[in-house]
Amino acid sequence: MCSTKKCSGCEKTYPKTTEFFHSNGTNRFRPNCKNCTNISLRNLRKEGKLKKRDRTEYCKKRYAENKPRIKKINRRTYLRRKLKKRIINDDEKAELELLVEELKNWK
Ligand SMILES: [Zn+2]
Repeated sequence: MCSTKKCSGCEKTYPKTTEFFHSNGTNRFRPNCKNCTNISLRNLRKEGKLKKRDRTEYCKKRYAENKPRIKKINRRTYLRRKLKKRIINDDEKAELELLVEELKNWK
């Protein structure tokens, strides 16, 4: 007598054997058929880990490219604050004007 098992992935019913389901050696079988398990593993590999690494690389690259700009923006904010408080000197005033122009034209 051969019992069957319904796959919780594709919802098809297969004979409850190791031919269709992964088993850990005892009578317990994975809820998904081998086909679904393989597909989900492949997707995990493809989308999960791989993409995550790519995204990290991308972020690092973007950050490195933006770093000088972020520094300038922070400097501009700092100088603007000084300007508001009227504690800015002429050199810093000139620097601020330069920064404003530079950031305006930044692509
Ligand atoms: Zn399935």
